[in-house]
Amino acid sequence: MSNKTQLSIIIPVHNEEENILELYKSLYNILSLVGKTYEIIYVDDGSTDDSFEKIKSIEDTRVKVVRFQRNYGKAAALSCGFKKSKGDIVITMDGDLQDDPKEIPRFIEELDKYDMVSGWKSKRYDPISKTLPSRFFNWLTRFITGVKINDFNCGYKAYHNYVVKNINLYGEFHRYIPALAYWRGYSVGEIEVEHHPRIHGESKYGVERLLKGFLDLITVTFLMMYKKRPLHMFGGIGFLLGFSGVFISVYLMFLWIIGERIGERPLLMLGILLTVIGAQFVSLGLIGELITNSRNNDDYIIKYDSYEMENGN
Ligand code: UDP
Ligand code: MG
Repeated sequence: MSNKTQLSIIIPVHNEEENILELYKSLYNILSLVGKTYEIIYVDDGSTDDSFEKIKSIEDTRVKVVRFQRNYGKAAALSCGFKKSKGDIVITMDGDLQDDPKEIPRFIEELDKYDMVSGWKSKRYDPISKTLPSRFFNWLTRFITGVKINDFNCGYKAYHNYVVKNINLYGEFHRYIPALAYWRGYSVGEIEVEHHPRIHGESKYGVERLLKGFLDLITVTFLMMYKKRPLHMFGGIGFLLGFSGVFISVYLMFLWIIGERIGERPLLMLGILLTVIGAQFVSLGLIGELITNSRNNDDYIIKYDSYEMENGN
């Protein structure tokens, strides 16, 4: 039998020292039943606790670890895992024991029907300060991207290998993987998964990540619709604003000719000025994102890589 890897499990880790070994044990038990050749890739996203040492202490050649120079965020960690993964099937899960390894066989089964399958934490054990904004976010993302799933942000997802090799992640883009995949033409399924409360360690997400996530929703939407043809968006807005400007000027000139007093409206002027400047800033930002996105290279630095070690480098 060939020793080709059939399944890759990717786990982004940032300060999860108390969860590493327990998760490994439970994964080991489930994966022994699944009967596929596998690798478990921990991506240590700049942990400052003993996470890395804990991972290194696992004596199993199927366990790989890539350690980042500093904390770059979950999207970078997943992106790196995607690049390293060798399995035909790739599964991502959080490293905090909130995602249960027992769902893996169901994910694999569902992949027969779809290019990727997303988990849906239908019963969540997180504080309402997190679940409420997340419900709004899911609604908004569904509305804007047109992808009809319930839970975009669940870290538990399964893919055929060809999907992950074609997705470029940075910022808070991991929230929109189903949209990015759908945009590429892949089919996206969803299964309900059990979600456990976090017992050890702390959640790394707060309001500020949500705000960043919102900006990235705008970016993703822009990239989705106008990546290849930015002029079709900015040109449209530009013409609309420009024509309105000409129209207003002609009207004012007409008033002036018939001797009407135009009057001074400083607040109105300020309003118009700010609107136009605002639109300029957003478009400039989007163009910047477009350039960054097109470069298509990751800017994380790897401090330790067990794949390199195996190759004797
Ligand atoms: N994580 C990461 N980098 C970060 C933040 C989080 O790799 O900058 C990992 C974290 O260790 C966990 C997963 O991403 O394995 C999900 O994080 P968390 O549990 O904090 O998010 P939540 O479940 O609260 O949304
Ligand atoms: Mg969590």
